[in-house]
Amino acid sequence: MNIHEYQSKEILRSYGVHVPDGKPAFTVEEAVANAKALATPVIVVKAQIHAGGRGKAGGVKIAKSADEVRGYAKELLGKTLVTHQTGPEGKKVGRLLIEAGASIQKEYYLSFVVDRQTARIVMMGSEEGGVEIEKVAAKTPEKIYKEYIDPVIGLAPFQAQRMAYAIHIPAPAIRKATALMQGLYKVMIGKDCSQVEINPLVVTAEDDVIALDAKLNFDDSALFRHPDIVALRDETEEDPKEREAAEAGLNYVNLGGDVACMVNGAGLAMATVDIIKHYGGEPANFLDVGGDSEPEKIAKAFRIMLEGGQAKGIFVNIFGGINRCDNIANGIIEAAKIISPDGKSLPVPVVVRLEGTKVKEGRAILKNTPIANVFPAATMEGGAEEIVKRVAAAKA
Ligand code: ADP
Ligand code: MG
Repeated sequence: MNIHEYQSKEILRSYGVHVPDGKPAFTVEEAVANAKALATPVIVVKAQIHAGGRGKAGGVKIAKSADEVRGYAKELLGKTLVTHQTGPEGKKVGRLLIEAGASIQKEYYLSFVVDRQTARIVMMGSEEGGVEIEKVAAKTPEKIYKEYIDPVIGLAPFQAQRMAYAIHIPAPAIRKATALMQGLYKVMIGKDCSQVEINPLVVTAEDDVIALDAKLNFDDSALFRHPDIVALRDETEEDPKEREAAEAGLNYVNLGGDVACMVNGAGLAMATVDIIKHYGGEPANFLDVGGDSEPEKIAKAFRIMLEGGQAKGIFVNIFGGINRCDNIANGIIEAAKIISPDGKSLPVPVVVRLEGTKVKEGRAILKNTPIANVFPAATMEGGAEEIVKRVAAAKA
């Protein structure tokens, strides 16, 4: 789960991590009032969306007066911001952060993520902060330093110091920088984060150390322990299809393409996305329907995939283990009846590959179905190839 920058900063503040003074604003008047209350010579107006790259896209404005704040707030609220992280459709700005301007001496990068290989949290830092860290990682990886953190010991003081020296934090700011690292690590653990990213971390002209941007991601599996975090959810930032799917108990991720797939098991679902790509298709989604074949659940999945005209074809790839293929085939046909207006045809081609228990019976049911647009496939490769072809034909 993601939250906004201003929410992340409130959490950091509660852990004693130094962030600029600031408050969110939902209206122009609120923005102006916040700016007046700050009473600082420089006020920064920042668009709050669940994506980075706002600076370059014009979503971070430096104002010198309340009047300028008013102008920028009017410009940004309601605007669709397109950054390198939003995709071409962009994200609509509904909230702003009005915060005190910092006098920046230098910008750094600092983050904590879970490293799967070592099964540890790794702290990463670089003196090339502010810009897209992905570029630094790709072109000059030697400029990113890493400290792997022992879960029993936690972030050791020597590790924090080593990082501060490695990224050339100026001497008068070192103690403040290491204290900030310790604070961030406490947030990472205390809130079950999957990521804490500060880009930029800045050293100010006064040798203060401040987290000027903050991005926290949370481990969804641990959210039950953090009702305070769940309350921060901004549904307008989430994909409506993903929300609907989650409510229906479906494991669904929208991938933006037009070849939908419905699969049981996360591993098979990933392999299915890969094989669609392999045959030149663009997967519309990852969808793990899990171990049941109730027609209502399959119908719900079909409906979500088809919503908004996104899917031009559906590839059903099911391995019947505990689940029997004949039940699944019947589920698909019943679902087709539920979602098709005339009960006899599906709006897009559906290629079905079944394997496992009672596969013969399952295939026979599909073969004999009166519902048009259902095509049984004998193999995963054959099915993937066929759905990609049918979708391409439908688009031509
Ligand atoms: P994004 O990562 O989405 O581009 P940031 O919060 O990192 O947004 O802001 C982009 C840039 O704007 C920063 O690198 C910094 O130079 C400047 N900036 C952001 N907040 C402030 C602030 N409070 N004071 C001064 N400059 C700021
Ligand atoms: Mg940033």
